[in-house]
Amino acid sequence: MDSVNRALEDFEKQRERLRSAFAAVGDLRPGSLVERHHKCGKPGCHCARKDSPGHGPNWVLTRAVAGKTVTRGIPGGAAVQQAREQIEEYHRFRTLVQEFIDVSEKLCHIRIQVSRAASKEAAEKGGSKRSSKPRSPKRSKRS
Ligand SMILES: [Zn+2]
Repeated sequence: MDSVNRALEDFEKQRERLRSAFAAVGDLRPGSLVERHHKCGKPGCHCARKDSPGHGPNWVLTRAVAGKTVTRGIPGGAAVQQAREQIEEYHRFRTLVQEFIDVSEKLCHIRIQVSRAASKEAAEKGGSKRSSKPRSPKRSKRS
């Protein structure tokens, strides 16, 4: 019984920690950042050389939406780093959600054990008559 209560307390603490972690979640977005180079096709351009990586980089954010890949352009510079952080935040958030679900599931389960143990304890304590209500036959006819 004690260990069950301690576990219950632990899980509640874990959930509380997760809740405050949720409060600290910032901007986030799903997807992956892809660096693209392209060749413009003009014969005189530096990108026409064989060893040239081409123009760019151009950054795009891709993600699958209902089976299709959706692409959004990301301007270079600070926005790239920002997008990286937002994607990272998204993964962090997903991890938090999964942890929250796990802890919550354990809590639900352990509550059943706690209430079972409590009712067992109550039944063992002198077999009080209070818990045994006069049994009425199951008549659910209401009208
Ligand atoms: Zn070119």
